[in-house]
Amino acid sequence: MKLLTSWGLVAVSVAANAAALPDETCDVAVVGGGAAGVAAAVQSGRAGARTVLIEQGHQVGGNMTSGGVNFPGLFHAWGRQVIDGVGWEIVTNCVALDGRTLPDFTKPTGRQHWRHQVTVNIPLYVALAEEALTKAGVTIHYHAAPTRIVRDGEWWKISVAAVGDTRTVTCRQIVDCTGNGAVASLLGLERMRESTCQPGSFVYKISPETPLDALDAEALEAARAKAVMEGRLLPNDTRAGVMGFLRRGGDTANYIDDADNSTADLRTQTNLRGRASMLRMYRFLKSLPGLGNVRLLAMSPEVGVRETFRVRGEYVVTHEDYTSGRTYADSVCYAFYPIDLHDKVSGIRPAHLKEGMVATVPLRALVVKGVDGVLVAGRCVSSDRLANSALRVEATCMATGQAAGAAAALAARHKTTALKIDFGELAALLRAHRAIVPGM
Ligand SMILES: Cc1cc2nc3c(=O)[nH]c(=O)nc-3n(C[C@H](O)[C@H](O)[C@H](O)COP(=O)(O)OP(=O)(O)OC[C@H]3O[C@@H](n4cnc5c(N)ncnc54)[C@H](O)[C@@H]3O)c2cc1C
Repeated sequence: MKLLTSWGLVAVSVAANAAALPDETCDVAVVGGGAAGVAAAVQSGRAGARTVLIEQGHQVGGNMTSGGVNFPGLFHAWGRQVIDGVGWEIVTNCVALDGRTLPDFTKPTGRQHWRHQVTVNIPLYVALAEEALTKAGVTIHYHAAPTRIVRDGEWWKISVAAVGDTRTVTCRQIVDCTGNGAVASLLGLERMRESTCQPGSFVYKISPETPLDALDAEALEAARAKAVMEGRLLPNDTRAGVMGFLRRGGDTANYIDDADNSTADLRTQTNLRGRASMLRMYRFLKSLPGLGNVRLLAMSPEVGVRETFRVRGEYVVTHEDYTSGRTYADSVCYAFYPIDLHDKVSGIRPAHLKEGMVATVPLRALVVKGVDGVLVAGRCVSSDRLANSALRVEATCMATGQAAGAAAALAARHKTTALKIDFGELAALLRAHRAIVPGM
């Protein structure tokens, strides 16, 4: 074959070198292995469905591991547990194996809701989640992403590409746990988003080897203002001031404006901006009197992204639904967290739920509109922007993931759709796997 351009040459040689792996047939394909995808795939596998997990990264956990946000919340509300099940099981196994203790959930936190978040050891969580997936019979494909999805009678055919190989995964049900609605996008289904994303944050750890009370906070702030004026720092490189940054050891003290990871190109730009922000801060700190010995101890592989697309489902959970604690005939799980919208200029002022209030999520918000056989869970669940700012937290992602995995497994078993399965059977399956179903 005659190759006309160098671009054509590259394309032909990549296609010729990619090994076509044998096709796979399963009941449920979960795309995206973050907090939601792990729970969805484990639940689906434990329900007896042949389950495949397709994850573009090198490990499970998504933003909880690769984004460094290793403090899932909130499993408890107003003194009682509202989210249990697969997610809680892996989190508590991780805490126990690590020899740590859980927060005291009986003590009210007032407005300091983060006190009831559970810190997990990232590498341990990844290994334990992989173990749970494997024991549930789930086949994991890392470094892989769907490039094309087509309907073939009752089946979906997913073309999955990875560096060096390709395969077709044929399944009855797909669960979109990509955080961005990547499956919905490939199928041309409706996704909702705002004109700009909320800022993300880049989690890295910088530690001073100087006692903090030996530092002159006022002088540090003056140096920071000067560095911002001279363009050596950006205002959002630290939003907690210099002392606040040092006290938190870095953590999520910065904002990476308009952080978006919904395409490879945007993700690249977001990560480059995150690491540039870290370098500015590191050089700035090292230039300060008494801080020449600060050390960069750790850096997450990815910038944490708070918001991109939400997939339109059969029901869109609104701010009003969320804050009024609305329950539905098909509520599959609880959700508890303040409304948590971040703004790159004014920051965040969490709006807490009224005392005693706990939100719920209906199955219809997990059923993608306009198509049969596709569910959604996690950050891109069907919701308006304000409701999503609370629903996106990790415990809730785990709960929606488990519910979507159970619904997909039952729909595949009965050769039907998630909306047509018997809700009592779904609730019973979830309860058998320790999930808490509202009203049951
Ligand atoms: C800075 C920051 C602070 C936060 N603070 C908290 C907090 O204190 N407590 C809390 O509970 N939550 C917090 N959150 C929210 C929470 O971390 C996320 O919303 C949640 O982890 C999202 O989980 P997920 O499984 O829906 O998506 P993700 O974690 O984004 O996982 C999606 C997975 O899908 C994969 N993927 C994406 N596209 C494809 C594709 N096309 N093919 C294959 N795989 C794909 C990704 O690689 C990823 O592994 C915070 C978020 C941020 C950014």
